[in-house]
Amino acid sequence: MNSEKTPGLYIHIPFCLSKCPYCDFYSSTSVSFISRFLDALFKEMEMYCNRFDPFDTVYIGGGTPSLLNLQQLERILKRIRENFSLISNPEITIETNPADLNRSFLESMREIGINRINIGIQSFNQKMLDFLGRRHSVKHAISAIEDTRKTGFHNIGLDLIYGVPAQDIDLWLDTLKQAVAFSPEHISCYQLTLEAKTPLGRRFQAGDFLFPGEELQYEFFMKTSEFLEEAGYIHYEVSNFARGEEYASRHNQKYWDHSPFLGFGPSAHSFQGNQRWWNHRSVNQYVAVLNTGNFPVQETETLTMEQLRLEALYLGLRTRKGICIQDFKNRYHYDLFSEKKKILAKLEEEGFISFQDGHLYPTQTGLAVADSLSLI
Ligand code: SF4
Repeated sequence: MNSEKTPGLYIHIPFCLSKCPYCDFYSSTSVSFISRFLDALFKEMEMYCNRFDPFDTVYIGGGTPSLLNLQQLERILKRIRENFSLISNPEITIETNPADLNRSFLESMREIGINRINIGIQSFNQKMLDFLGRRHSVKHAISAIEDTRKTGFHNIGLDLIYGVPAQDIDLWLDTLKQAVAFSPEHISCYQLTLEAKTPLGRRFQAGDFLFPGEELQYEFFMKTSEFLEEAGYIHYEVSNFARGEEYASRHNQKYWDHSPFLGFGPSAHSFQGNQRWWNHRSVNQYVAVLNTGNFPVQETETLTMEQLRLEALYLGLRTRKGICIQDFKNRYHYDLFSEKKKILAKLEEEGFISFQDGHLYPTQTGLAVADSLSLI
């Protein structure tokens, strides 16, 4: 399965200068550990040498990859090219914090082959940034976007967060307006979620602030979609918008259509065929295991056809590309039309999905409730 799909390569940089109080991802603030981590990362790459390739995407995510200096980023890309083959025009993305960006760093990133920059803006409102505990300011955000454009990047993505306590729809629309004014090629809008074990989650449990309820969250979602579509963006996945098909993240689409991908670094996941495996979460453990000459894999799972089918349904209904009924039947040996006839007809009648040319598409309302749609 998937032999026709081109794989993607992911590198996880597990370091942040400070922890944002809402963040549930694993990252370490011990930046002095970066060089030991890189040595381990290069060992891991050698262990997978020539597996999967050629790759058509490289995604350097985190954490905060822009904490690395140019030489470190250059070494990563060099090691990738030494151990794997890339197609001639790969999409090479890096996630960045606006506070780390300046013209000379950006120019050098372009020179070493990075062609897509994702900037973690989150908000153009300083109060929201303060609430989210971000280390950058609105001023940093604006100059980072301007510098990235001036450097000649033609594929810029902005990450934004909505549903922040004390943020009303107008305040959020103001952030969207400011984002759109820069004409970024890509915008991701994530709903703030509160995880119980994070500092923000604990503050919420202690009654420090109110959190938007389901109705308001739904309104945020619908207004976002309407506003950005009117501004010319395609709402191609629940949280993602592109200023043209060609700007949809090539890499992230691999996660949504069961394409193979190989992930390096602590907590990175990989997928091929019906196998999924992931690395140890802690950077110390990741480095220690690699130093003993072993793969840093924490666990591997083999997915049954039933699990793959459910995942494909869940993921397919989160994208505007939807699900091709015939492809689904070929890959997962399941005829959605005949097996789910009644429920699909009901969802269509209620305006959550639509059928066209043998495809099943989520509507805008369907995207807003994509998690529940997958339960069909
Ligand atoms: S910068 Fe990103 S990864 Fe790091 S703590 Fe903040 S949200 Fe989490």
